[in-house]
Amino acid sequence: MVSNLFYNQTHLLTGNKLNIGLADTLINIPRKYYPLFDNNQKDQISIGAVADLVYSILSRKEEHGNTTLDKWGRFDHDKSFLVQNELDQSPIIDELILDVVKQLGLKARNIWPDGKKAVVCLTHDVDAIDGFSYLWLRKVNWYWCWIRAKLEGDQQTANTWASTLERWKRYKKANFDPMDSFDQIQELEDSYGFRSTFFFMSLRHGLSREGRRYSVQNPKVAKTAEKLLEGGWEIGLHAAYHNHLSLSSLKEQKQRLEDVIQEEISGCRHHYLRVRFPDSWKIYAQAGFKYSSNMGWGSGSQGFRAGTCLPYQPIGEYSLLEIPFQLMDMSSIVDIESYMNMFNQYLELVKSVGGCLVIDFHQEHFQEQAASGVGKVYRDILDSIARDQDVAVLTMNEVCKIMKQFKKLGREQSC
Ligand SMILES: [Zn+2]
Repeated sequence: MVSNLFYNQTHLLTGNKLNIGLADTLINIPRKYYPLFDNNQKDQISIGAVADLVYSILSRKEEHGNTTLDKWGRFDHDKSFLVQNELDQSPIIDELILDVVKQLGLKARNIWPDGKKAVVCLTHDVDAIDGFSYLWLRKVNWYWCWIRAKLEGDQQTANTWASTLERWKRYKKANFDPMDSFDQIQELEDSYGFRSTFFFMSLRHGLSREGRRYSVQNPKVAKTAEKLLEGGWEIGLHAAYHNHLSLSSLKEQKQRLEDVIQEEISGCRHHYLRVRFPDSWKIYAQAGFKYSSNMGWGSGSQGFRAGTCLPYQPIGEYSLLEIPFQLMDMSSIVDIESYMNMFNQYLELVKSVGGCLVIDFHQEHFQEQAASGVGKVYRDILDSIARDQDVAVLTMNEVCKIMKQFKKLGREQSC
């Protein structure tokens, strides 16, 4: 039902089940929400219209069907209603719901443990487990790029490729792999007592049409996973780019990774965030995942894709949760200060609605030699969170468990 998402989120935030006529109850709409509604009488609106809007944005109605896709076959960021109306930089849907419940005389509650105002989940996509496998192939590619730049008379680009070749020759000689950072990330997070989730790919072959990745059978995957799981870290599936809407492929990938790590996998995030809503949610649920974490933007765009930082159940017939994410790293972060400003701004917004900020930093980007600025930003983020008394760092599965408890309570309560 259309109104379910609104009811569910209202219940999550207040602990109360609304028992009012959605169409007859009018509320005042502050000016900042005007662009969300296509309504002439904008200062007064029915709660039914709010529920319709919440459904439309959270279910990503604008992404359903044959919509305009970008070159990676994903919904085009620039076509998003929230982006086009410059409403994507805050959890505006959560803010709207909180505004509505306040007008109804209900009090928002704190949903996180130990009275914390907000939660941060740390996640890492693992696109690569190292830089040395198939290094010869990478070298051929860099060499080819060097030749092409030379032929085009672009000396500056040619120099860049030449120095890449030189650098990797040095790394190999020194047996220093800047794209293998599992130990460093684990050590760093452990020093704060934080645990995170690593999303591993689960491919048959290290070289495939997915590019140079890694085989899930590579002994390093099992070894690394064992160390992570033993220490309390979590592992999810970073599903392949190709066949992204195939249930059988997704099931296969999940099973292969589970066979290797010897543990059930709860969560999935697609490589390149190549998902289509609601189709991807359906196959995630059918493949047995408990949560999806794809509701964010990649390719350098950051923000609140569905205007929310609260987990929600996107399709009524399945218990699958979407845990939206807001912040991703890049292949290099030049302006560290402005990235940190963005992080701090997001965190404050998430705290103001009692939400969950999910950040995604790639395993292979952690070291300065691999992705300039990224590791420094990640360190600064952890430092900043550790100093914030209002914030708890939880894993994705811990968030799922908390949401499940609320759902159970919701069934028993009738407020
Ligand atoms: Zn990826």
